[in-house]
Amino acid sequence: MIDFHCHLDLFPEPFAIAEKCRAHNLYVLSVTTTPSAWPRSRELSYGGDRIRVALGLHPQIAHERENELGLFDRFLPQTKYVGEVGLDGSPELAKHQQHQKRVFDHILKACGRAGGKIISVHSRRAATPVLDAIAAHPSAGPCILHWFSGSMSELKRAVDMDLWFSVGPAMLVSKKGRQLVAEMPRHRVLTETDSPFAQRGATPLMPWDVCEAEGEIAKIWQVSPEEASSILLSNFRELVAPVR
Ligand code: MN
Repeated sequence: MIDFHCHLDLFPEPFAIAEKCRAHNLYVLSVTTTPSAWPRSRELSYGGDRIRVALGLHPQIAHERENELGLFDRFLPQTKYVGEVGLDGSPELAKHQQHQKRVFDHILKACGRAGGKIISVHSRRAATPVLDAIAAHPSAGPCILHWFSGSMSELKRAVDMDLWFSVGPAMLVSKKGRQLVAEMPRHRVLTETDSPFAQRGATPLMPWDVCEAEGEIAKIWQVSPEEASSILLSNFRELVAPVR
C-alpha cells in the first residue's frame, strides 16, 4: 500500500510512526510544510527506501515563510520530492494570494531548473490558478494533485495536462469526491491519507488507514481489492521509476 501524502513530522512521535509504516510494508511520501523542518524531517527516510520525504512550503503559511525560499533552494538538491506546495483560495487567505503565487512560482521554477521533481500539490479552492501555474512551468516535473476538490471541468483540464491524483479516505466520504475519482484515469491515481490533518470523526487518520481508500477505489472501479491494489502499485512504480 502507498500513502503518497501524509505529514509524519506532525505526529507527536514521527520516528515511531515511521517504524510502524515500515512494519505495515507501506510506501510513504511524507510531505513537509516549511523548509526549516527539512533537516529533521529528512531523517525519517533513513533506513530504507519505503519512506521518502518531500521538501515543502505549505500555501496556508506562504505569507509567513516566504523568507524561507532561500532555504528551500539550498535543500532542493537533497531530494527528488517536493511538497506540500500549491495555492489555497480559502476566503481567510485571500489577502495573502500574491505571497502564495510568488512562492509557488518560485518553487515550480526551481524544480524545473533542477531537472524536474515529483511534486505533491495542494489546490483547495484554487484548482484553476494551480493548473495555470503548472501549465506555465512545464519542466517542473510530474505534479500530483492531492485531495483534489475542484469542479468537473477543472478535473478534465488536469487530466488533459496528464497530471496525477492522490486520493484518501477523507475525500472518498463525499459523493462529489467519489464522482471526481470515477472520472480520473486509473493509471494516474495514487492513494494518500493526509494524516494527521485528515480525520475520521475526531480521530486523526494513520498512514496505514490508506487501506480504506484502496477499498473505496476498488468499489468505484468495480474491480476486486487485489486488482485495485495492483493497479495503484504499478502507478506508483511508474511515477517514481525515473528517480530511483
Ligand atoms: Mn497535507
